[in-house]
Amino acid sequence: MRLSLNHKPYRLPFRQPMRTAHGVWAEREGMVVRVEDEHGRVGFGEIAPIPGWGGGTLAEATEALARLGRQPSWDEVSTMASQGGVLGFALGSALEASTEDVASEREYLAVAALLPAGRSALAGVETKLELGFRTFKWKVGVDDERAEQGLLDEIMERLPEGARLRLDANGGWDRRQAERWLGFCADRPMIEFVEQPTDPGNVDLLLGLVEDYPTTLALDESVVGRADFERWQGMGWPGVFVIKPALWGDPQDVLDVVGPVAPQVVISSALETACGARRVLELAFAMPGLERALGTGVWPLFAPSRLNGPTALPFLRKTEVEAINAEEIWEALET
Ligand code: MG
Repeated sequence: MRLSLNHKPYRLPFRQPMRTAHGVWAEREGMVVRVEDEHGRVGFGEIAPIPGWGGGTLAEATEALARLGRQPSWDEVSTMASQGGVLGFALGSALEASTEDVASEREYLAVAALLPAGRSALAGVETKLELGFRTFKWKVGVDDERAEQGLLDEIMERLPEGARLRLDANGGWDRRQAERWLGFCADRPMIEFVEQPTDPGNVDLLLGLVEDYPTTLALDESVVGRADFERWQGMGWPGVFVIKPALWGDPQDVLDVVGPVAPQVVISSALETACGARRVLELAFAMPGLERALGTGVWPLFAPSRLNGPTALPFLRKTEVEAINAEEIWEALET
């Protein structure tokens, strides 16, 4: 079967620039893909790479799309989707015709609240608590270690019993820093996990740390796609996997491979528009074993409101996901 394949690139400034390990990130570049088959069934997908992460670049995806041309066969598109990465996610999403319903037994999923860096976290935690959030995430390794640990205790003093706090070091600690931090976390059970404490590629160090300290560790930068995931799983990683489906590849592949270990998984956003968000969130709803709060409390990210995924609230309702209309997003983007 021949398909009609179209795409629209976009460049969207963030409402607030992102501070990342690679510097300041001010605007998101990506692409929305539209696939229509001979029966008029239409599907959409989004290419949303994060600079400095894996899963391929926008330039590579653009080139691959040019190779596919405007009228590729189903098999050609499906083969490329199976190769994973940001393009695999977009094409795998688009091959599934868009529907209104999200197939899930669950009506809502919990979402983690992102706290701002530095002392503003204290005010942030009050606001988020009032909204009803019970899982929080805070970036560490940004400022002086002692100051951060002091602030962390101040944050935790404000949290009620049963609340959970995630720390994300984005791979920024060396061995000694990680050891000091994990020592500090050891008698603070409110900490749900420490995400990517050290260099994503240093397997021995991460395996050593996860064995030596009681706090759960989570891999994020270490597990961008299927090959990474299978490698860590093969080594018996006992901690959490933070999965960004938009970087991984075909959503069905995420479901097949990650679904069986869903209790160990956090489904996370790659700062995509509502188009990609729809598939990421559908995927989360399709995993019955998912227990940990979603890492998708990132929207609104962009000024045009219809391009944002669901606004960050403590619970994401299935109906909010169903309300996302990829066709409208496609129409809203300029050619
Ligand atoms: Mg992370």
